[in-house]
Amino acid sequence: MRTVDEHLAAILAAVRPAAPVRLPLSESLGLVLCEDLRSRVDLPGFDNSAMDGYAVRSADVRAADPAVPGSAVTLPVVGEVAAGGIATVPVGRGEAVRIMTGAMMPDGADAIVKVEDTDGGTESVEIRAGVPVGTSVRPAGEDVREGAVVLEAGAVIDSRRVALLAATGHGEVLVRPRPRVAVVSTGSELVPPGDPLAPGQIHDSNSHMLAAAIAECGAVATHRLSIGDEGSEVLRVVEELAGQVDAIVTSGGVSMGAYDVVKEVLRDTGTVDFVQVAMQPGKPQGFGVVGAQQVPLFALPGNPVSSYVSFEVFVRPALRALMGLKPHARQAVTARLMHDLRSPAGRTQIARAVAVRDGSGWQADPVWGQASHFIADLSRANALLVIPPDVTDLSAGDAVQIWLLDGAEGRISR
Ligand code: AMP
Ligand code: MG
Repeated sequence: MRTVDEHLAAILAAVRPAAPVRLPLSESLGLVLCEDLRSRVDLPGFDNSAMDGYAVRSADVRAADPAVPGSAVTLPVVGEVAAGGIATVPVGRGEAVRIMTGAMMPDGADAIVKVEDTDGGTESVEIRAGVPVGTSVRPAGEDVREGAVVLEAGAVIDSRRVALLAATGHGEVLVRPRPRVAVVSTGSELVPPGDPLAPGQIHDSNSHMLAAAIAECGAVATHRLSIGDEGSEVLRVVEELAGQVDAIVTSGGVSMGAYDVVKEVLRDTGTVDFVQVAMQPGKPQGFGVVGAQQVPLFALPGNPVSSYVSFEVFVRPALRALMGLKPHARQAVTARLMHDLRSPAGRTQIARAVAVRDGSGWQADPVWGQASHFIADLSRANALLVIPPDVTDLSAGDAVQIWLLDGAEGRISR
């Protein structure tokens, strides 16, 4: 039997990051940048107003002081400029131009008096508070200089970086693309959710779960199929998909049963290995490459919890590697176990738990149903509790390692 780490290492040794492609910025969220990007503009691009108000010469309004009655200064309003407009009328001595936030500073003006400190006039304006030179003016290039590197190759694009790239003129970026992944559920007992169930049938949850998990990784499930237990069909579908996608994930048909055809037919290709991994759940695992493009194929066990855990432990790191991301990104934290827990000797147990953080740190409450068919308890969990092979008995209060499945904040609602 292989250890979890050995099987993961074998998978990661076989996957290479995808070649970079140029994509619209709007499609780049979560992807790895493959070029250094320099700003195409100064930010701000021109001196502009930080306030709605009046562009003035500071010296003209110096005397105005809200604490001194009668000190207000009245100036003629010689023009108006809004954001996106051009300041055509300069501000001469003793004049003001009405100005909106983001609008270009008119020539001659050196400060902005905000509208709240005036009477808001349009013909002439009463200025009630003087301002020093530079007040509420946003100088050109203050934030970013044209030509400066704003983001380096290797950066992961998030919403804040999208703002930066858009503002600095990058409508397209060179990134590693989202892997296109095909999901194939196998099992003649499966029917689509919503369809009526004949005796012995169940709804196909794995293909939906895996497609959702793929999307959560930042990859895209381009195909989601549910097929029966015909070996020839499994082979035909896999061969067809191998020419269209960057990875294939199958579920079911990999254990010891009479209809475990995924294992039979894919093993015969000679490029997919079926191994026993010393873990619970998820012992039977298939991995290899298929087709001329040597597309990675993951053959996961069919029990829904086994499928999910296998995805987390093996497929997610591999998809991240295809994207050029660090394979392991689940945040691992130490938690206090809230109940006793037994674990099989010689196998890594990946238990499902509800993790909560209080003043004394993280607490992990293993869900009641730890067998691999308990879908409701899987859905309740927000953490995976990783118990090493040599640990068999854990007591309430013991320190354990958990992987947070929803980020450090946990779920927004329960
Ligand atoms: P298998 O690995 O094909 O023997 O499946 C193991 C168990 O998981 C059986 O009880 C199957 O009915 C169940 N199962 C297999 N595929 C799915 C699926 N796509 N959705 C839900 N349950 C499944
Ligand atoms: Mg099956």
